[in-house]
Amino acid sequence: MKKHNFSAGPSILPDSVIKQAAAAVLNFDNMDLSLVEVSHRSPQFDAVIKKAQKLTLELADLEGKGYEVLFLGGGASLQFLMLAFNLLPENGKAGYLDTGVWSKKAIKEADIMGESVVLASSKDKGYNYIPKGYNIPEGLAYVHITSNNTIFGTQIKDFPNVDVPLVVDMSSDIFSKKLDFSKFDLIYAGAQKNIGASGTTLVIVKKDILDKTKRTIPTMMNYQTHISKDSLFHTPAVFSIYVSMLYLQWVKDLGGVVEMEKINDKKAALLYDEIDNNPNFIGFAAKEDRSPMNVTFNLTDASKAERFNKLALEAGIHAIKGHRSVGGYRASIYNAMPIESVQVLVDVMKAL
Ligand SMILES: *Cc1c(COP(=O)(O)O)cnc(C)c1O
Repeated sequence: MKKHNFSAGPSILPDSVIKQAAAAVLNFDNMDLSLVEVSHRSPQFDAVIKKAQKLTLELADLEGKGYEVLFLGGGASLQFLMLAFNLLPENGKAGYLDTGVWSKKAIKEADIMGESVVLASSKDKGYNYIPKGYNIPEGLAYVHITSNNTIFGTQIKDFPNVDVPLVVDMSSDIFSKKLDFSKFDLIYAGAQKNIGASGTTLVIVKKDILDKTKRTIPTMMNYQTHISKDSLFHTPAVFSIYVSMLYLQWVKDLGGVVEMEKINDKKAALLYDEIDNNPNFIGFAAKEDRSPMNVTFNLTDASKAERFNKLALEAGIHAIKGHRSVGGYRASIYNAMPIESVQVLVDVMKAL
């Protein structure tokens, strides 16, 4: 039997997506060829990437609103640099909310291209909360936030209102709930958490924020290169894009982000209720900022770790060890995680 996969990334995919992807690796679109051995310029693959782009705009309710959808290489990590290359003028400043490891990495790259201004930070409490009520100074080229902090298990519930482009790293909660996506001018997400397999990164960019920096941008780093060639400037990650197309279709078929949110809220409530009501456990993140995607918690009595780990292993639970920088436990319960698997974890917690 398959394990209950709580991995933070690469992470669980819907069973139906894995089956369809496996079938396409054997025989893609009745071509009697594998998905991974045909041209990315074939009409069959062109249909795949176009469909993935259309599904993205549909799920985000951004059709006809001036946004472009790209599937790029280099992970979300390359976006840290690429977005600054495209949006930050030389000697320019950009505002960053420091909510953890991934924000810090984004800040580091911005400082290569210009200057970051840290608007607020939750470092003082080990990143267990989301800063609120901070000021946003004038003269910033853009503001960057991380909507969900995968490692610490916090999520931004209210986004800042800014009059400059708002850039968001949505790697670990994209399409997990209904949002006004038009609040954002640039959205990026590594596919391997909530919308697919590793190897491709979804970028949704509002076209009118580009070409403002007067900077010379290397070809591969320039969003315009990829926009003008519809993500086919170079050979893209065909398998990963195919998996994302299937995954986005899966979200649409179950009712889109509205239904996805209902399912995700149920899963999160089930697990957080157990953490709050079971004296063996304590949550890591501040309650009001808790992530419904990455649930971080600790044992109140560390001597019970061996027994808990054993029970979890016996129940077929995979990858609930916390990130090395936080310790404790982290259960990643992304879109594809069935509630039945969350129940298995809760049952193990009850049995401790
Ligand atoms: C995983 C993650 C990243 C890094 O993604 P890569 O695709 O591995 O580069 C960046 N930001 C967040 C919020 C993440 O969870």
